[in-house]
Amino acid sequence: MVNKAQAYEDKYKGCIIGLSVGDALGMPVEWFTRAQIEEMGGIREYIDPINKFKGILKAGDYTDDTEQTLALSNAFDKFGYSEDKFIENLLYWYNHNPIGIGPTSSKALENLSKGIKKGMPSETCGSAMRTAPLGLFYYDDLSKLVEKSISITKLTHNSPNAVAGALSISYMVSKCLIHGIAHNTYDRYRLEEGSDDGLGNMNLIKSVYEKDVGAFLSKDLEEKKEEDEYKNYKDNDNNNGNIDYDNDISKYEHTDASHSTYAKIIEYNKNVINKKHMEKGYNPIVYIEETKQKRPYQYPEFRKSIEDCSHLLIDTSIEFSEKILDILEICEKVHNSNYDKKVILEGYDKLGTGINAIEAVPSAIFSFMISNSFKSSLLNSINAGGDTDSIGSMCGALAGTYYGYNAIPKKWVNGLSNNEKILNTAINLYNLKVLD
Ligand SMILES: [Mg+2]
Repeated sequence: MVNKAQAYEDKYKGCIIGLSVGDALGMPVEWFTRAQIEEMGGIREYIDPINKFKGILKAGDYTDDTEQTLALSNAFDKFGYSEDKFIENLLYWYNHNPIGIGPTSSKALENLSKGIKKGMPSETCGSAMRTAPLGLFYYDDLSKLVEKSISITKLTHNSPNAVAGALSISYMVSKCLIHGIAHNTYDRYRLEEGSDDGLGNMNLIKSVYEKDVGAFLSKDLEEKKEEDEYKNYKDNDNNNGNIDYDNDISKYEHTDASHSTYAKIIEYNKNVINKKHMEKGYNPIVYIEETKQKRPYQYPEFRKSIEDCSHLLIDTSIEFSEKILDILEICEKVHNSNYDKKVILEGYDKLGTGINAIEAVPSAIFSFMISNSFKSSLLNSINAGGDTDSIGSMCGALAGTYYGYNAIPKKWVNGLSNNEKILNTAINLYNLKVLD
């Protein structure tokens, strides 16, 4: 049984390990085109590099994306992120054979080593690839998440699109954490075999869910409740005002997909685990397995989050904000085509898979949105070609956070270089957040 703390820890570990796995899967074919990757039979496992890393790195090794993410993850204390510590960590890496370092980071870190805090006017994804830990630590504080994403990027990449890319990744990681926890709660409820009639845990689920998913939902519901009470008071003398909100929440129209999960819990409460099932010795585990096989693609659940992400970027880069909305348009087509490969590939063509944040970041998000497991997210992202290690790592951060560490194939975790060190970094970050 997974409790709340374990669920969060699973997400933190999933994010940082997932990011590293994506980097290691993409590293051997960085800058290969999609056609070239297809020609060699596609990437499904770690392989020895066949590009510039040949003879330098081996299967399961990672590059600058992971190194800089670890530098950031290790720059937190219980009060939050420390810029001085981050610069110190970055420079330590820079001075110790920084394999795979990008052209912008190289120049910017040279400046930082001389005490010059002046980012380069670069549009690459060199900052977006490292900002996932901000989404984990500041998922409950949007203003800090925004402020830190901007300042961390400007240390090295001082351009509107690089900032917008970094902001997109930290924001979407925070949403993956929130949505992922909501799913955990849902799954946990379904696994509660011990409950006498399958209805007994509803209050627990409600309290956990409302707390975890955030104040916006409770606030929204409270406002609706007040509106309704006032309306009833005004319109209907016969109504004594007793509205059963606990069982009638689904009647309200909520725009955020996370609410639909809540509605699903209620539906499930009513329809699936009921006395009839329990009397017949119904085993909820079977349902879980069936559900897992049919787990939905992420696009419908994240529609609102992507829209919010686009709005968040308007002040930073209108071009990037519009590009984020393009993801939705393409996802809609992919969804309507029933996830047809040709339509998916057209999507990657439209978004682009190059090194610039405005291509790599949308492609990473798109890969996650059109998939329904950690594995499928990652294989989609790597086999699209281009800046495979960075797109893979950003997609890995999103998918790892959402599905959690336990959903990452064990052979990918075991084959990852320094996996224990990376795991401990994630656990440490989680502990700092809890202590805060
Ligand atoms: Mg790299």
